[in-house]
Parts: sequence; structure tokens; C-alpha cells
Amino acid sequence: MHYDVIIVGAGPAGTVAAFECNSRGLSTLLLEKHSLPRDKPCGGAVMYHGLRLLNGELPKSVVERCIYGLRFIFPGNNQAEFISDKMIGVTVFRSRFDEYLARRAERSGVELREAARVTKAAVSEECAEVVLEDGTHFTSEFLIGADGVNSIVSRELGLRPKRKDLTKVGLGMEADFLVGEEGVMQATGDNPSVLEIIPAEDRISYGWVFPKREHLAIGVAGAGNQMSALRPLFDSFVRKTELRTGVDLIPDSKRTYFLGGDGLGSRNVSVRSILIGDAAGFVDPMMGEGIAYAMQSGVFAAEVIAEASMNEKHDEETLSRYQQKCADEFAANFAMAGWAGSKGASFAESMLSKISGHKLASDIMAMVARGEIGYAGIPPFVLRKLPRSLPGIIRHAVRSRVSNQSRKPS
Ligand SMILES: Cc1cc2nc3c(=O)[nH]c(=O)nc-3n(C[C@H](O)[C@H](O)[C@H](O)COP(=O)(O)OP(=O)(O)OC[C@H]3O[C@@H](n4cnc5c(N)ncnc54)[C@H](O)[C@@H]3O)c2cc1C
Repeated sequence: MHYDVIIVGAGPAGTVAAFECNSRGLSTLLLEKHSLPRDKPCGGAVMYHGLRLLNGELPKSVVERCIYGLRFIFPGNNQAEFISDKMIGVTVFRSRFDEYLARRAERSGVELREAARVTKAAVSEECAEVVLEDGTHFTSEFLIGADGVNSIVSRELGLRPKRKDLTKVGLGMEADFLVGEEGVMQATGDNPSVLEIIPAEDRISYGWVFPKREHLAIGVAGAGNQMSALRPLFDSFVRKTELRTGVDLIPDSKRTYFLGGDGLGSRNVSVRSILIGDAAGFVDPMMGEGIAYAMQSGVFAAEVIAEASMNEKHDEETLSRYQQKCADEFAANFAMAGWAGSKGASFAESMLSKISGHKLASDIMAMVARGEIGYAGIPPFVLRKLPRSLPGIIRHAVRSRVSNQSRKPS
């Protein structure tokens, strides 16, 4: 069978790209190696800048919790909190979220094949081709590699080395803990709409506690080449969380997985093909947030391929517009996140605790999470708001300084 587009992988990147390709009139085949629903190791926090690409379509049954804020808990137990009156994201179980996106694509007319593992992929001047484990093969005008961080498409097309470069990917371990609604309320101080992020003292890793309806998603992650002691790190993080919250934590099952990579520093396009999502390496280098970037890169790939198809162009230069769109949208965020991440927990603490709870800071956090501004848009936004906000900021800084001093032992 011959298609306009074949997409390998039905995660957030592939399912959104499939929906968008199909809605632009391209015949689209989506291949997924598992039967759905399938699970994916993930904290399950989907930020609003990804959700908005679904035009508010996400059903309530897929949403575990609506999220309105972030709380950073530093090694000495100091906290910085930013809570908005606008929703900044949701928590989900990836099995349900990803299946919803796949069925949405299927309902729109995409041909979805489950239990279809791609073992070979190739592109030439004439066409793109993939071969499944059982020998079935398909051809297309364009190929999208959306097959995650261990992408076979990226390696088959020579866009990534056969062996993973651990300096360029992260590594994480996570688990869902069934604690009941009461446990979620107790662990979150009766506010289950806040994501907790806990930077580690050693500056190479961080942990998280994300509230779901009856579960807590808890995990740790850090640079791939520095996470050899992942299991003890995870176990000790869970023990500390147990002590801090007073909630007994017994994991459903622990899962380890690689995170993203150097998406903007790598080649993601060749003749007739584009890599998206984790296959391309589009993950925030500080927090490991990748779902929204995966979805956005899926939209960009569909836009570029639809235009190339209309103009009957399949060359790398034409498709490179995709890389440019991703750079324009993601570069400032990734650069700022990489810089802040490299500074470590004490830097984050000294910066964030000064502005904790301030309305302007919470508004900015919400706007970034909602995709209304990027990190690069923060300084001009602050400058515009500053004259009106200055008296409040000074009052806030004085108050937090006084309360910090009164907390210090004499
Ligand atoms: C521990 C951990 C916690 C995380 N927490 C968060 C979080 O809370 N929020 C967030 O935004 N991001 C988080 N991330 C990152 C996020 O999970 C990824 O960025 C996101 O899943 C990328 O989506 P994707 O569609 O590109 O890839 P994936 O979700 O990995 O989907 C790829 C799909 O391709 C399929 N596939 C693979 N190979 C083949 C093949 N050969 N043939 C056919 N199909 C194939 C897979 O089965 C899979 O369904 C986390 C990552 C980790 C490791």
C-alpha cells in the first residue's frame, strides 16, 4: 500500500502529527508496535501549551487533576510556590491519554495499525519505505519518525548513531503510588492542583511528586551519564517523601526510561523524512518536560509536509523549514532551561524564593506554561508590567527578607 505519509509511533508526537496530516488531506498510516492502551514511563504532567493544540477537546475521563501551580521544595526544605488562577496543565495516565489521542486520529480518518513493530525504514529519491517485523511493507511520499527516545527510524535513516550518547539524553525512574484520595490530599497539603518539583542537592538530578486522583506519580531524573545509581536515588527520594508527607508509599511498579536529547543541536530531517518528539530529542533540558514539545513538533511536521506535498517537493532543504520552526519556537526555552539547570539547586533556591508567591511571578509562570509567552518573552513582559508592580514587589521582597531572618536561628 502507498500513502502520502507514514508515521512510526503512536505517542503524543505521532498521534498529533497523524491527526494534523490527515486533516490537511494527506492519506496517513500510523504504525504502533504495541496494542493500545500501552503504558509509557512518565510523570504524566501535560502542560497547557500542549493541550491547547487539542482545541479544548480532552475529555474529563482522561484528566486526573487540573493543575494551577508549581511548588519547588529545596534541600533545606525551603519552598517557593507559584499558583495561578489560570489552569497551567493537567495530570494524566499516559496509557489513557495516548490512547485517546490515537483514537482521535483514527476517528478523523487516519489508518492506525497496532501491534505493528517497524524493523526497517529507508528513504530514497523515489519514496519512503518501512518494513514490519512480520515482513509486511508499506511505501509513502513522506515518513515521520515519532518512535520515541529509542527511535529505530532515526538510526535506520542515519540521523542518529546506533549507540546512544549518554551525554545527550536524560535517564529517569518513576512509579505511581496508589494512596487513595485522602492520601493525595494529605500529601499535597489539601491542594492537589500543584506539581511539586524537588531539585537535588548534587545539582545533577531532581525529583517530582505529581498528584493524580488516587495516585501520586513520583520520580527522579537527571543527566544520562550521571545516573548510574538511579535505583538507590529513587528509593531514598521516596523514603524522604514518605517522611515529609506522612503518607505510606508502596509503588505499583518502578519504571526506568531515557529522556529526550539534544533536539535542536541534531539533524532531524532528510530527504522525505522528519523526526518529531523524543525521536528528535525535543525535551526541556532542565525539567524533562517533553509531551507538549512532542505534540507541537507533530503539528510543525504536518504543516511542512502538507506544503511540500502540495509543491511536490521532497528534498531535505524544503523539509528543513521544520527544523527552523522548531528552533524558532523551542530554542529560547531550551537555552534558558539548560542554563538554569546547570546552575543547580542553590541557585534556583536563591532566585525562586525571592519571588515566591508574588502575583507577577505566578502570572509569568502561568503564561509560559500556557504557551502565551516563551522564556525569551519574560524580560520584555516584566519591563512592561514593572512600573505598576514595583511597589508590590518591594513590599513582597521586604516581607520575605524579614520572615527569612526571623526563621534563622539566633
Ligand atoms: C521518567 C520520565 C518521566 C517523564 N515525565 C514527564 C512529564 O511529567 N511531563 C512531560 O511533559 N514529559 C515527561 N517525560 C517525557 C515524555 O514522556 C516524552 O517527552 C514524551 O513521551 C515524548 O512523546 P513521543 O510521542 O515523542 O514519544 P513516546 O511517548 O515515547 O511514543 C513513542 C511511540 O512509538 C512507539 N514505537 C517505538 N518503536 C516503534 C517501532 N519500532 N515501531 C512502531 N512503533 C514504535 C512506542 O511504542 C510509543 O508508543 C518523562 C519522561 C520520563 C522518562
